[in-house]
Amino acid sequence: MARLTLETLRKEYDRGRVVAVEDLSLDVDDGEFITVVGPSGCGKSTTLRMVAGLESPSGGSIHIGDEDVTDQNARKRDVAMVFQNYALYPHKTVMQNMAFGLRMSTDLSKDERRERVRETAEMMGIEDLLDDKPDELSGGQKQRVALGRAIVREPDVFLFDEPLSNLDAKLRTTMRTEIQRLQNELGITSLYVTHDQEEAMTMGDRIVILNDGSLQQAGRPKDVYENPANEFVGGFVGSPSMNFLDVRVERDGTRLTLVDDDGSFSYRLSESFSATLREATGEDELRVGIRPEDVETTSTGPNVVESTVGVVEPIGSDNYLHLDVGPDFIARVDSDVDPSPGETLGVTLDESDLHVFHPETGESLLYRESKQKATATQ
Ligand code: ADP
Repeated sequence: MARLTLETLRKEYDRGRVVAVEDLSLDVDDGEFITVVGPSGCGKSTTLRMVAGLESPSGGSIHIGDEDVTDQNARKRDVAMVFQNYALYPHKTVMQNMAFGLRMSTDLSKDERRERVRETAEMMGIEDLLDDKPDELSGGQKQRVALGRAIVREPDVFLFDEPLSNLDAKLRTTMRTEIQRLQNELGITSLYVTHDQEEAMTMGDRIVILNDGSLQQAGRPKDVYENPANEFVGGFVGSPSMNFLDVRVERDGTRLTLVDDDGSFSYRLSESFSATLREATGEDELRVGIRPEDVETTSTGPNVVESTVGVVEPIGSDNYLHLDVGPDFIARVDSDVDPSPGETLGVTLDESDLHVFHPETGESLLYRESKQKATATQ
């Protein structure tokens, strides 16, 4: 087991015309499970492949433990990788597939290798499949074998490249839990790449968000959710996505109004919040983020905005209401709030739920105390 350290890791293609990974620095603690997430093309796979030794960096360094492995051959690195397409040898049995890596990376005898494979297969619940060939297995079983093959080697570092993308939704959920259980049990330092923010949020001790090759934020899922470092992260993490509104801070600083609005939207701020906002920003215009689950429906009270209901999407426990408060504005409400399209609905939100971003750079301007922490210390 070991710590994994990436220092200003960089990968360029096409003589520098494509910067796939831009000076990425990241410390993964011994035994930590890090999920790396971002849209397609943001550099996730390239990062993983550099750690595996399948791609050589254009700059920066990779350390596993104290050892600098930046220029080390993939075979010499004590890492095991699990791929989306399983990458099993079709002509070998499950036993042979799982034992193969051991033969390459250890000097165990054949019997010892078979024993290790049996133990791991038992742990994974695939001991009955050891004599089967990959094409006799279901997708879920193949992925279990691929995981087992990685685990049996007891590597320093696990690398997962979208390993669950080919599985159906139900199996994906089961396998997520399974991978977490195994990782908890084995405590192997892990880097897990996915494009699915929900997977990243539920699985990671920490989540790393990339966009356009560069690091946007790294942190515990709850912290990232509560305090996205910028508009991109705010919009990427959480489902449905955060709503964004362009607002003007009125001259006395105690009211927000919508830019490009006829004045129907006027949100009064408390004195303490306006003071905090003034101190933090000094901007006349801001971009605010509001999570769909923070929008409340109400007909009375201060700060009620009248809106017209567009589409209503029922998802079982909740309804997603599309409202004309702003562009693509969604409220996530209880399923018993079930208005008809075209109806007028009053909505409001708590000022402490506002995320505030710079209108041009998109950087977050306001750190929000965790509500739970705030209550716990009261
Ligand atoms: P992700 O895994 O996040 O989808 P990748 O790491 O595969 O993204 O790719 C990052 C960027 O690098 C993309 O713009 C991709 O087109 C580019 N890229 C990846 N591999 C190559 C390559 N061999 N040659 C040129 N460009 C590449």
